[in-house]
Amino acid sequence: MEKFEVNILGCGSALPTTRHFASSQILNIREKLFMIDCGEGAQMQMRKSKLKFSRLNHIFISHLHGDHCFGLPGLISTFGMLNRTAELHIHAHADLETLLTTQLNYFCKNLPYKVIFHAIDPSKEALIYEDRSITVHSIPLRHRIPCCGFLFAEKPRPNHILREMIDFYQIPIYELNKIKNGADYTTPQGEIIPNNRLTSPSLSPRRYAYCSDTIYKEDIIPQIHGVDLLFHEATFADSELSRAKETFHTTARQAAEIARKAEVKQLMLGHFSARYEDETILLKEASEIFLKCTLAKENLSINI
Ligand SMILES: [Zn+2]
Ligand SMILES: [Zn+2]
Repeated sequence: MEKFEVNILGCGSALPTTRHFASSQILNIREKLFMIDCGEGAQMQMRKSKLKFSRLNHIFISHLHGDHCFGLPGLISTFGMLNRTAELHIHAHADLETLLTTQLNYFCKNLPYKVIFHAIDPSKEALIYEDRSITVHSIPLRHRIPCCGFLFAEKPRPNHILREMIDFYQIPIYELNKIKNGADYTTPQGEIIPNNRLTSPSLSPRRYAYCSDTIYKEDIIPQIHGVDLLFHEATFADSELSRAKETFHTTARQAAEIARKAEVKQLMLGHFSARYEDETILLKEASEIFLKCTLAKENLSINI
């Protein structure tokens, strides 16, 4: 199966610790890399994970808190030193262009490549990226400042041709594309051969949802329903429920509640508060609600 892999570069929250890097992930979809958030140290972590800089062309930023975007100037500068020529596309709240342009004009004069900003309206669910094989939609979240998550989805693939049936009915090659896309075949004698006798269905498209940072927000459930993997922030344990509300974050139990109600296949918790020496308590509280639950970890790679 073609690659659809989530690589965690950092899964801590805003306050630095020696245990975690700030938020950043790389999705490897068929050897094209997509970065989600770019906290400090993301470029070092990318090197460590042996992910090729040259394959990264699109970066998606959930919101403009430092722990999700302070890594950008360094990364952009490094790409310049490596003589990158390919355009780099950054999808983020419109303010990022203003903020980053000042820094790039000062620190990264004469970049050998173009940085292109695409403004996202985080309050809306919208298609923000599309290529031949995937789509990316924004997931409106609720945080102290405008914030959205991202839903990465493969496009449905054509059915597989059953070679022996094609030979049996002596179907000409020029008909095959239509058949792959679901058409029946009519023989020269006028007999209709239904598509399901000529093809087998392709695997169902894979989907990954990234939801960080946000207060508990049930109205995202229809959009992320049934995803193969949900990354949801779980900054706090139950004992900090009121703190979670005040700061517009989620507890591990609430993240699991979202996963259970959305009937996702797997949940990954992340964006851990610096107060936890280890996150066993978060895993324990979430697992009481939703069993297929794991903790994110730096340099962890999950194949969907
Ligand atoms: Zn954060
Ligand atoms: Zn934040």
